[in-house]
Amino acid sequence: MTDAPTILYETPAAGVARLVLNRPESRNAQDTILLYALNTAFDQAARDDAIKVIILSAAGPHFSSGHDLREQGSITDQMAGHDPVGTWCGFGCAGAEGRMAREKEVYLGLSERWRNIPKPTIAQVQGKCIAGGLMLAWPCDLIVAADDAAFCDNTVGMGVAGVEYFAHPWELGPRKAKELLFTADWLTAQDAKALGMVNHVVPASELATFTLDLATRIASKPMFALKLAKEAVNAAEDAQGRVSAMQTAFALHQLAHSHNMQVHGMPIDPGGLQVRRKT
Ligand code: ZN
Repeated sequence: MTDAPTILYETPAAGVARLVLNRPESRNAQDTILLYALNTAFDQAARDDAIKVIILSAAGPHFSSGHDLREQGSITDQMAGHDPVGTWCGFGCAGAEGRMAREKEVYLGLSERWRNIPKPTIAQVQGKCIAGGLMLAWPCDLIVAADDAAFCDNTVGMGVAGVEYFAHPWELGPRKAKELLFTADWLTAQDAKALGMVNHVVPASELATFTLDLATRIASKPMFALKLAKEAVNAAEDAQGRVSAMQTAFALHQLAHSHNMQVHGMPIDPGGLQVRRKT
């Protein structure tokens, strides 16, 4: 165990904040504490007028192994001490109600909130980015990947139809999105770039300097124009039905959890845990 903060907040250059996922011993698995710490750091960067670009990076060899399935306690315990950023409450409610409330808040809710931060954001990804890891990288505006980066959503094997922030069709196109979900095969950084999911692939040794240089160049532009450019592109995605499609996928995700509770007595298919350990 370590007492180190789960998120580091750095200002490596003028106008640039760099948030660092700092649980390398668990491959930056996301528990509730880490997610709220990350949200606080995003808020700090968003509210600081001196910051124009935000980098999301990760300590250690891997970006994120996804949600921390070892997190202990009831949903009420997990949510204790955190101030919800959404209005869908009822974390202590029984059955599907409490689980949906938590996932709507800490998974879909936080990722969507970060996607809409009105400043350019850049994910800096090395190593493995698995399932919930996608929910940190995808909400960012740009993604820079090391040549050793690889992406995977293995949730179908766990009896759930994709992670809660269901951006797959928008990030990959419908056909490749289905293959990613059906097979859980690794998507390499180069393949992700070919699909338009990743902006740049660079040698791992150059990842941090390349990303910081990109952020610095963007930070030289007028802040308001950057905000408006981001808003315009985001609006184009939303005009295509992104939000309603993701809400439908989230409802299906909750249906899958409820089904698994009835059939397996737990929110995921336990057979999928064996698959996950092999990744
Ligand atoms: Zn879920």
